[in-house]
Amino acid sequence: MTAPETPTDWRAAAAAVELPTQAFVDGRYRASRHGATFNAENPATGQVLTPVDEWTAADVDDAVDIAAARFEAGVWADRDPAERKAVMLRFAEGIRANAERLALLETLETGKPISQTQAVDVPACAGTIQWYGECLDKLYDEMAPGGNDAVIAIRREPVGTVAAIVPWNYPLIIASWKIGPALAAGNSVILKPAEESTLASLLLGEIAAEAGIPAGVFQVLPGRGHVTGDALAGHNQVQAIAFTGSTEIGKRLLVRSGESNMKKVGLECGGKSAQIVTRECEQLDAAAEAIAWSIWYNQGETCHAGSRLIVDRRVADALLERVEALMGQFEPGDPLDDATVMGAMISTDHLHRVQGYLDAVRRGGGRVIGGEVIERIEGGAFMRPAILRDIDRTGQAAREEIFGPVLAVMECDGLDEAVRIANDSEYGLAAAVWTDRLSDAHRAARRLQAGTVWVNCYDMASVATPFGGYKQSGIGRDRSLHAFDKYTELKTTWVAV
Ligand code: NAD
Repeated sequence: MTAPETPTDWRAAAAAVELPTQAFVDGRYRASRHGATFNAENPATGQVLTPVDEWTAADVDDAVDIAAARFEAGVWADRDPAERKAVMLRFAEGIRANAERLALLETLETGKPISQTQAVDVPACAGTIQWYGECLDKLYDEMAPGGNDAVIAIRREPVGTVAAIVPWNYPLIIASWKIGPALAAGNSVILKPAEESTLASLLLGEIAAEAGIPAGVFQVLPGRGHVTGDALAGHNQVQAIAFTGSTEIGKRLLVRSGESNMKKVGLECGGKSAQIVTRECEQLDAAAEAIAWSIWYNQGETCHAGSRLIVDRRVADALLERVEALMGQFEPGDPLDDATVMGAMISTDHLHRVQGYLDAVRRGGGRVIGGEVIERIEGGAFMRPAILRDIDRTGQAAREEIFGPVLAVMECDGLDEAVRIANDSEYGLAAAVWTDRLSDAHRAARRLQAGTVWVNCYDMASVATPFGGYKQSGIGRDRSLHAFDKYTELKTTWVAV
């Protein structure tokens, strides 16, 4: 499939694209036992794309048995690291070779603009698989100091079968954050995509098999959370869950681990990330630009979106004037149009949930700027970006994760108050501080309770940096070498000499 060049071509490609509908199990697409299905839908039109097989508890047992048997047989973990590296690099190349179809499937299901799935999501997914592939033959084990009487080796060993349960907002990127290190560590991996974003993930299974990942070592099981996800979470032969999604479901997985085999649980959950703008920030234009992109990119459906703006009241109006001036750049449009920057929300249900926060702010006497629901395409879930001002700091819009294009503004006096407000949250995924005073930047960075703190920038990211949250934003880290902690056990071997 060659890259379509005009918006019309993307629509034609969408009409012709082949949609995978079955699980990818044991090296091939396979029907579920009982014929249960759920619908893959296009949120830009409200239309059903295709029914997809749902992998129920008995089907999950089959897939886990296969994964466990392949792990026991050592078909992947026991192979030479350089060979496994070569397979992972081919997997990354296969993702690049299928970029257009992957981007199209992801856009059709999630409403994300095609320009972004093609230029950002697919390349980032391939890049992460490549990065972990390249790590694979450079990971050394450790020796502990044992004096002259002992040789003490500390080795990392794969845990066995890993279930990756991921959300719909960045389906390919987040899947790669789990699949990359879990496969590189030698595990069997089962990916359970969100029911809203299944199709591109199914294709990943096929691409991995073509690259040489042995049958049963990487499988993709479609299904709803409380069916397929729950069966994996409670399974006694799954040794680790790698989850990204809501804090509510993250907590549920901890319970399911305790009820079953005490599997490892890595959690990347919700956020309400704060951006502090101090009165010593001279670069208000740059701050405004970063703030706008941080909250309105991906329709605001980003876990680390900069959803709380905590701004010193002496610069508040000057900054907000600039942010408001940028709202027009995020006019929602057809996700299949190359020029679209903001696409459709994931569903009309979610759109109404987000609108509920705006209504509550209006009722409470706050100001809502923008946020109108618009019908770009009949049946689609589109809304304009919104800014909330004069809101109650203890209210829901100020404290809860809205997961939409909604910036909640709070004014403060000085850096100390700003940090206090920022930390007064059950979440701790990310934060930013904008200041020209170096000492204030360092002071704030140390005191902010968040897994990532950006200074005079936002959303700078690399696969080489750990990503995850403090408090109820999660447990453990994705990306970087630290991600291996979730997918390996440390074994000490003490040899008396
Ligand atoms: P969700 O928690 O509803 O679903 C996430 C995944 O869990 C899906 O695959 C779903 O099918 C599955 N699931 C749902 N119920 C389950 C159950 N009972 N047992 C097992 N699995 C179950 O989240 P969502 O609506 O898909 O995604 C939005 C959420 O994800 C937001 O809260 C967002 O902040 C969070 N998120 C976090 C990060 C991060 O890195 N911290 C990144 C992206 C999204």
